[in-house]
Amino acid sequence: MRAVVFDAFGAPPEVREVADPAVPAGGALIRVEATGLCRSDWHGWRGHDPGIRLPHVPGHEFAGVIERVGTGVTGWAPGDRVTVPFVCACGRCAACLAGDQQVCERQTQPGFTHWGSFAELVAIENAEVNLIRLPDTLSSPAAASLGCRFATAFRAVVTQGRVAAGEWVAVHGCGGVGLSAVMIAHAAGARVVAVDTSAGARDLARRHGADVVLDASSLPGTDAVAAAIRDLTAGGAHVSIDAVGSADTCTGSIRSLRRRGRHVQVGLLPAATGAPAVPMDLVIALELELRGSHGMAAHAYPALLGLVTSGALRPDLLVADTLDLPTAATALTTLDRPTVPGIRLADPRPAPAPAPAPAPAPAPHPPSI
Ligand SMILES: [Zn+2]
Ligand SMILES: [Zn+2]
Repeated sequence: MRAVVFDAFGAPPEVREVADPAVPAGGALIRVEATGLCRSDWHGWRGHDPGIRLPHVPGHEFAGVIERVGTGVTGWAPGDRVTVPFVCACGRCAACLAGDQQVCERQTQPGFTHWGSFAELVAIENAEVNLIRLPDTLSSPAAASLGCRFATAFRAVVTQGRVAAGEWVAVHGCGGVGLSAVMIAHAAGARVVAVDTSAGARDLARRHGADVVLDASSLPGTDAVAAAIRDLTAGGAHVSIDAVGSADTCTGSIRSLRRRGRHVQVGLLPAATGAPAVPMDLVIALELELRGSHGMAAHAYPALLGLVTSGALRPDLLVADTLDLPTAATALTTLDRPTVPGIRLADPRPAPAPAPAPAPAPAPHPPSI
């Protein structure tokens, strides 16, 4: 198969032919139709994830069609359209038995614990625990955009943040996961303050439900961002989400809360990048809650998919563009900084043969919005 491969952490990834992954017993081999480019892939490429063995194929948020199923798999067959949570669970540990597959004790993660979906084929374990059947009306790009980011944002806002209508929600960082959180919080009836340094990202945030946007680069530091949010929200946000994953945005998020507010950490803070100084004095004095959101279990997807197919949530609107594999390989190295606002996808399928020369084109339509 063709795949994006890197041979050393931080070395330029390249597209080349590699052996197809084996189908694990009880697992499945999936032909990838769309896969998201996520900052977590950048962390993996930089060597921030101690579990990655080289050479490596990144990619963990994808949708596609089952190519083969492993021995013992019933209920799934080649041709089924599927996605998976980025945390693939074992189905047997105490966390899984409690329904918390997103923090499984023996989890696997495509693109981290084994080769991922920047490839024509990806293998996953424990098909019956992890596969999610896609509704016919949901395209593979839209399903891949649920990926880790939309699903993680959904769990962060709805389950971990317990956002209620009328509450103020602050979202720090409007990349893919932040924009998802903005859209989901707005759909839940919350009032949303979105923070980003990129004008393009702020514009998207406003378009997808932010009531107020703040340019972090126009304010003198994290404390000023937090103070501006407390002013705007008459005392602080009820829920604040760090959708970046940095010492600054983590502490800024906590400092932007009102009394008894809830901070949800969504952006990754790998140990290799250093630990943030969490203001525990405020946590005690204001009785704040600090929670993490680590993906979402497969069994929780039907509620999300229902809102997507009904049109209440539109992750497809967050898709900025779809790249071929060589372009995705290059883009992987820039995911730590704002480039293209929104969610970028890659389609690893071979490009179709060039069409025959077209007939003379009619007068162009005006561009649609
Ligand atoms: Zn488990
Ligand atoms: Zn991700």
